[in-house]
Amino acid sequence: MHVNLKISSIVGALACGLALVLGAQPAAAHPGSLWGIDLSSVVALRDQARLAAHRTTPPPQQAELERVRTIVLDPGHGGENHGAIGVAGIREKHLTLELAYHLREAIQARYPEVRVVMTRYWDTSMGLSERVHLANLAEADLFLSLHYNAAVHNRALGYETFFLTPEEVTPGEQQEQSPMLASAEGGAVESPVEGARLVGQHGDDLIFIQRDLMRAHQHQLSGHLAHCVQNGFRTHLDSIDRGVKQANFGVLRGAHMPAVVVEAGFLTHPGEGQELVQRAHRQRVVNALVDAIDAFDDEMARVLDQP
Ligand SMILES: [Zn+2]
Repeated sequence: MHVNLKISSIVGALACGLALVLGAQPAAAHPGSLWGIDLSSVVALRDQARLAAHRTTPPPQQAELERVRTIVLDPGHGGENHGAIGVAGIREKHLTLELAYHLREAIQARYPEVRVVMTRYWDTSMGLSERVHLANLAEADLFLSLHYNAAVHNRALGYETFFLTPEEVTPGEQQEQSPMLASAEGGAVESPVEGARLVGQHGDDLIFIQRDLMRAHQHQLSGHLAHCVQNGFRTHLDSIDRGVKQANFGVLRGAHMPAVVVEAGFLTHPGEGQELVQRAHRQRVVNALVDAIDAFDDEMARVLDQP
Protein backbone atom coordinates (compact mmCIF):
# COMPACT_ATOMS: atom_id res chain seq x y z
CA MET A 1 0.00 0.00 0.00
CA HIS A 2 1.21 3.46 -0.74
CA VAL A 3 -0.80 5.33 1.85
CA ASN A 4 0.75 7.35 4.60
CA LEU A 5 2.25 4.78 6.97
CA LYS A 6 0.98 6.45 10.11
CA ILE A 7 -2.60 6.48 8.86
CA SER A 8 -2.49 2.98 7.48
CA SER A 9 -1.06 1.63 10.73
CA ILE A 10 -3.76 3.36 12.79
CA VAL A 11 -6.48 2.06 10.49
CA GLY A 12 -4.87 -1.36 10.48
CA ALA A 13 -4.71 -1.43 14.27
CA LEU A 14 -8.34 -0.32 14.55
CA ALA A 15 -9.45 -2.87 12.00
CA CYS A 16 -7.49 -5.63 13.76
CA GLY A 17 -8.97 -4.60 17.12
CA LEU A 18 -12.48 -4.61 15.72
CA ALA A 19 -11.89 -7.92 13.99
CA LEU A 20 -10.85 -9.43 17.30
CA VAL A 21 -13.78 -7.93 19.18
CA LEU A 22 -16.27 -9.06 16.58
CA GLY A 23 -14.58 -12.41 16.12
CA ALA A 24 -14.40 -11.81 12.38
CA GLN A 25 -12.57 -14.38 10.31
CA PRO A 26 -10.07 -13.40 7.66
CA ALA A 27 -11.91 -13.60 4.36
CA ALA A 28 -11.29 -12.86 0.71
CA ALA A 29 -11.42 -9.08 0.93
CA HIS A 30 -13.16 -6.97 -1.64
CA PRO A 31 -11.57 -3.56 -2.30
CA GLY A 32 -11.99 -1.40 0.78
CA SER A 33 -12.55 -4.34 3.06
CA LEU A 34 -10.23 -6.04 5.50
CA TRP A 35 -11.33 -9.21 7.30
CA GLY A 36 -14.87 -8.44 6.22
CA ILE A 37 -14.78 -4.99 7.79
CA ASP A 38 -15.41 -1.91 5.70
CA LEU A 39 -12.35 0.25 6.26
CA SER A 40 -14.16 3.48 5.51
CA SER A 41 -16.47 2.85 8.46
CA VAL A 42 -13.40 2.25 10.63
CA VAL A 43 -12.00 5.56 9.46
CA ALA A 44 -15.37 7.13 10.26
CA LEU A 45 -15.08 5.76 13.81
CA ARG A 46 -11.79 7.59 14.05
CA ASP A 47 -13.65 10.75 12.98
CA GLN A 48 -16.14 10.22 15.78
CA ALA A 49 -13.31 9.90 18.27
CA ARG A 50 -11.80 13.14 17.00
CA LEU A 51 -15.18 14.85 17.14
CA ALA A 52 -15.53 13.84 20.81
CA ALA A 53 -12.03 15.14 21.54
CA HIS A 54 -12.88 18.45 19.87
CA ARG A 55 -16.00 18.78 21.98
CA THR A 56 -14.09 18.40 25.23
CA THR A 57 -11.21 20.70 24.28
CA PRO A 58 -12.42 23.28 21.77
CA PRO A 59 -9.58 24.76 19.76
CA PRO A 60 -9.72 28.54 19.37
CA GLN A 61 -10.63 28.73 15.66
CA GLN A 62 -13.73 26.55 15.51
CA ALA A 63 -16.61 27.74 13.40
CA GLU A 64 -19.85 26.52 11.95
CA LEU A 65 -21.06 26.30 8.39
CA GLU A 66 -24.65 27.34 7.69
CA ARG A 67 -25.49 25.23 4.68
CA VAL A 68 -22.70 22.75 4.10
CA ARG A 69 -23.13 19.62 6.19
CA THR A 70 -21.31 16.97 4.17
CA ILE A 71 -18.22 17.41 2.02
CA VAL A 72 -16.84 14.75 -0.29
CA LEU A 73 -13.14 14.95 -1.11
CA ASP A 74 -12.01 12.98 -4.13
CA PRO A 75 -8.26 12.31 -4.25
CA GLY A 76 -7.68 12.13 -8.01
CA HIS A 77 -6.46 8.88 -9.62
CA GLY A 78 -5.22 5.94 -7.51
CA GLY A 79 -4.15 2.33 -7.95
CA GLU A 80 -3.21 1.59 -11.57
CA ASN A 81 -4.02 5.14 -12.54
CA HIS A 82 -0.97 7.07 -11.36
CA GLY A 83 -2.01 10.43 -12.75
CA ALA A 84 0.81 12.76 -13.70
CA ILE A 85 4.41 12.13 -12.71
CA GLY A 86 6.19 15.37 -12.06
CA VAL A 87 9.72 16.74 -12.06
CA ALA A 88 10.12 15.69 -8.41
CA GLY A 89 9.37 12.08 -9.42
CA ILE A 90 6.28 11.82 -7.22
CA ARG A 91 3.06 10.45 -8.64
CA GLU A 92 -0.03 12.60 -8.63
CA LYS A 93 -2.17 9.86 -7.03
CA HIS A 94 -0.01 9.95 -3.87
CA LEU A 95 0.01 13.73 -3.68
CA THR A 96 -3.77 13.99 -4.05
CA LEU A 97 -4.34 11.38 -1.33
CA GLU A 98 -1.96 13.17 1.02
CA LEU A 99 -3.65 16.47 0.25
CA ALA A 100 -7.10 14.98 0.89
CA TYR A 101 -6.09 13.61 4.31
CA HIS A 102 -4.64 16.95 5.37
CA LEU A 103 -7.59 18.88 3.99
CA ARG A 104 -9.94 16.59 5.87
CA GLU A 105 -8.02 17.21 9.12
CA ALA A 106 -8.16 20.96 8.57
CA ILE A 107 -11.88 20.98 7.78
CA GLN A 108 -12.68 18.86 10.83
CA ALA A 109 -10.52 21.01 13.09
CA ARG A 110 -12.32 24.16 11.96
CA TYR A 111 -15.83 22.72 11.50
CA PRO A 112 -16.17 19.72 13.83
CA GLU A 113 -19.85 19.37 12.97
CA VAL A 114 -19.20 18.87 9.27
CA ARG A 115 -18.98 15.34 7.87
CA VAL A 116 -16.06 14.78 5.52
CA VAL A 117 -16.07 11.69 3.33
CA MET A 118 -13.25 10.68 1.00
CA THR A 119 -13.86 8.69 -2.17
CA ARG A 120 -10.74 6.65 -1.45
CA TYR A 121 -8.67 6.27 1.71
CA TRP A 122 -5.79 4.33 0.22
CA ASP A 123 -4.04 3.69 -3.08
CA THR A 124 -6.81 2.00 -4.99
CA SER A 125 -8.21 2.18 -8.51
CA MET A 126 -11.61 3.78 -8.81
CA GLY A 127 -13.82 4.63 -11.76
CA LEU A 128 -15.08 8.15 -12.25
CA SER A 129 -18.73 7.20 -11.97
CA GLU A 130 -17.95 5.32 -8.74
CA ARG A 131 -16.58 8.51 -7.22
CA VAL A 132 -19.65 10.53 -8.22
CA HIS A 133 -21.95 7.75 -7.08
CA LEU A 134 -20.30 7.74 -3.67
CA ALA A 135 -20.75 11.52 -3.38
CA ASN A 136 -24.42 11.17 -4.30
CA LEU A 137 -24.90 8.36 -1.78
CA ALA A 138 -23.25 10.48 0.90
CA GLU A 139 -25.71 13.27 0.00
CA ALA A 140 -22.76 15.64 -0.20
CA ASP A 141 -23.34 19.38 -0.25
CA LEU A 142 -20.16 19.86 -2.20
CA PHE A 143 -17.65 17.73 -4.06
CA LEU A 144 -13.98 18.58 -4.56
CA SER A 145 -11.99 16.40 -6.95
CA LEU A 146 -8.35 17.07 -6.10
CA HIS A 147 -5.68 17.05 -8.79
CA TYR A 148 -2.32 18.39 -9.80
CA ASN A 149 -1.75 19.41 -13.37
CA ALA A 150 0.62 18.29 -16.10
CA ALA A 151 1.55 19.63 -19.52
CA VAL A 152 3.57 18.25 -22.43
CA HIS A 153 5.96 21.19 -22.15
CA ASN A 154 7.46 22.42 -18.88
CA ARG A 155 6.40 26.07 -19.14
CA ALA A 156 2.78 25.65 -17.97
CA LEU A 157 2.33 27.08 -14.49
CA GLY A 158 -0.45 27.98 -12.07
CA TYR A 159 -3.74 26.83 -10.60
CA GLU A 160 -7.15 26.42 -12.20
CA THR A 161 -10.59 25.11 -11.27
CA PHE A 162 -13.08 23.37 -13.54
CA PHE A 163 -16.80 22.85 -13.42
CA LEU A 164 -18.96 21.00 -15.86
CA THR A 165 -19.99 22.50 -19.19
CA PRO A 166 -23.73 23.46 -19.19
CA GLU A 167 -24.66 20.96 -21.91
CA GLU A 168 -23.33 18.20 -19.68
CA VAL A 169 -25.36 19.43 -16.74
CA THR A 170 -28.53 19.48 -18.84
CA PRO A 171 -27.38 16.84 -21.29
CA GLY A 172 -28.67 16.61 -24.82
CA GLU A 173 -28.05 14.09 -27.54
CA GLN A 174 -24.36 14.82 -27.68
CA GLN A 175 -23.88 13.56 -24.14
CA GLU A 176 -22.80 10.11 -25.14
CA GLN A 177 -20.26 11.24 -27.73
CA SER A 178 -18.51 14.12 -26.09
CA PRO A 179 -15.03 14.53 -27.57
CA MET A 180 -13.40 16.81 -25.04
CA LEU A 181 -11.56 15.27 -22.19
CA ALA A 182 -9.45 17.55 -20.04
CA SER A 183 -6.09 16.57 -18.61
CA ALA A 184 -7.27 15.58 -15.11
CA GLU A 185 -8.94 12.57 -16.65
CA GLY A 186 -5.71 11.23 -18.12
CA GLY A 187 -4.99 7.53 -17.95
CA ALA A 188 -6.52 4.44 -19.43
CA VAL A 189 -8.67 3.58 -16.42
CA GLU A 190 -10.80 6.70 -16.39
CA SER A 191 -12.93 7.51 -19.39
CA PRO A 192 -15.44 10.27 -20.10
CA VAL A 193 -18.21 7.83 -20.96
CA GLU A 194 -18.12 6.43 -17.42
CA GLY A 195 -20.20 9.36 -16.12
CA ALA A 196 -23.52 8.49 -14.58
CA ARG A 197 -26.50 8.75 -16.95
CA LEU A 198 -29.00 11.31 -15.78
CA VAL A 199 -31.73 11.35 -18.39
CA GLY A 200 -33.83 8.82 -20.22
CA GLN A 201 -34.91 6.89 -17.16
CA HIS A 202 -38.20 8.72 -16.70
CA GLY A 203 -40.62 9.55 -19.47
CA ASP A 204 -42.48 12.15 -17.51
CA ASP A 205 -42.11 15.72 -18.85
CA LEU A 206 -42.54 17.27 -15.44
CA ILE A 207 -39.68 15.22 -14.08
CA PHE A 208 -37.51 16.42 -16.99
CA ILE A 209 -38.39 20.04 -16.27
CA GLN A 210 -37.79 19.69 -12.55
CA ARG A 211 -34.50 17.95 -13.16
CA ASP A 212 -33.42 20.60 -15.67
CA LEU A 213 -34.18 23.35 -13.18
CA MET A 214 -32.34 21.48 -10.47
CA ARG A 215 -29.34 20.95 -12.73
CA ALA A 216 -29.31 24.59 -13.84
CA HIS A 217 -29.29 25.64 -10.21
CA GLN A 218 -26.59 23.14 -9.36
CA HIS A 219 -24.56 24.31 -12.35
CA GLN A 220 -24.77 27.88 -11.12
CA LEU A 221 -23.63 26.79 -7.65
CA SER A 222 -20.76 24.76 -9.13
CA GLY A 223 -19.63 27.96 -10.87
CA HIS A 224 -19.74 29.80 -7.54
CA LEU A 225 -17.77 27.01 -5.89
CA ALA A 226 -15.12 27.13 -8.64
CA HIS A 227 -14.75 30.90 -8.17
CA CYS A 228 -14.44 30.46 -4.39
CA VAL A 229 -11.62 27.95 -4.95
CA GLN A 230 -9.79 30.28 -7.34
CA ASN A 231 -10.16 33.17 -4.88
CA GLY A 232 -8.72 30.96 -2.15
CA PHE A 233 -5.75 30.04 -4.33
CA ARG A 234 -5.18 33.68 -5.26
CA THR A 235 -4.97 34.56 -1.57
CA HIS A 236 -2.70 31.70 -0.54
CA LEU A 237 -0.58 30.70 -3.54
CA ASP A 238 2.14 32.71 -5.20
CA SER A 239 1.55 31.44 -8.73
CA ILE A 240 -0.41 32.15 -11.90
CA ASP A 241 -4.21 32.35 -11.77
CA ARG A 242 -5.32 30.37 -14.82
CA GLY A 243 -8.95 31.03 -13.99
CA VAL A 244 -12.22 29.15 -13.73
CA LYS A 245 -12.90 26.89 -16.70
CA GLN A 246 -15.63 24.59 -17.88
CA ALA A 247 -14.95 21.13 -19.24
CA ASN A 248 -16.54 17.77 -19.71
CA PHE A 249 -15.04 15.90 -16.81
CA GLY A 250 -16.49 12.46 -16.25
CA VAL A 251 -15.80 12.82 -12.53
CA LEU A 252 -18.26 15.72 -12.37
CA ARG A 253 -20.98 14.26 -14.57
CA GLY A 254 -23.96 12.91 -12.68
CA ALA A 255 -23.06 14.69 -9.44
CA HIS A 256 -26.18 15.85 -7.59
CA MET A 257 -24.31 18.59 -5.78
CA PRO A 258 -22.03 21.54 -6.65
CA ALA A 259 -18.86 19.86 -7.88
CA VAL A 260 -15.47 21.03 -9.16
CA VAL A 261 -12.12 19.67 -10.27
CA VAL A 262 -9.26 21.46 -8.54
CA GLU A 263 -5.87 21.64 -10.29
CA ALA A 264 -3.57 23.02 -7.60
CA GLY A 265 -0.41 23.46 -9.69
CA PHE A 266 1.77 21.95 -12.42
CA LEU A 267 3.83 18.92 -11.50
CA THR A 268 5.68 19.31 -14.78
CA HIS A 269 6.97 22.84 -14.18
CA PRO A 270 10.61 22.81 -13.03
CA GLY A 271 9.97 25.31 -10.21
CA GLU A 272 6.35 24.67 -9.24
CA GLY A 273 6.76 20.91 -9.65
CA GLN A 274 9.46 20.92 -6.94
CA GLU A 275 7.53 23.29 -4.73
CA LEU A 276 4.20 21.52 -4.65
CA VAL A 277 5.59 18.31 -3.21
CA GLN A 278 6.69 20.33 -0.17
CA ARG A 279 4.69 20.31 3.04
CA ALA A 280 4.50 24.13 3.08
CA HIS A 281 2.85 24.23 -0.33
CA ARG A 282 0.38 21.55 0.63
CA GLN A 283 -0.57 23.59 3.70
CA ARG A 284 -1.17 26.65 1.52
CA VAL A 285 -3.44 24.59 -0.74
CA VAL A 286 -5.29 23.27 2.32
CA ASN A 287 -5.74 26.81 3.68
CA ALA A 288 -6.99 28.00 0.29
CA LEU A 289 -9.55 25.21 0.07
CA VAL A 290 -10.80 25.65 3.65
CA ASP A 291 -11.28 29.37 2.91
CA ALA A 292 -13.05 28.40 -0.33
CA ILE A 293 -15.47 26.13 1.55
CA ASP A 294 -16.16 28.92 4.02
CA ALA A 295 -16.81 31.45 1.24
CA PHE A 296 -18.96 28.97 -0.67
CA ASP A 297 -21.07 28.30 2.40
CA ASP A 298 -21.72 32.06 2.70
CA GLU A 299 -22.63 32.13 -0.99
CA MET A 300 -24.98 29.14 -0.62
CA ALA A 301 -26.69 30.79 2.33
CA ARG A 302 -27.07 34.01 0.32
CA VAL A 303 -28.41 32.29 -2.83
CA LEU A 304 -30.70 29.84 -1.05
CA ASP A 305 -32.10 32.45 1.33
CA GLN A 306 -33.16 34.70 -1.56
CA PRO A 307 -36.95 35.14 -1.64
ZN1 LIG B 1 -5.26 14.42 -12.19
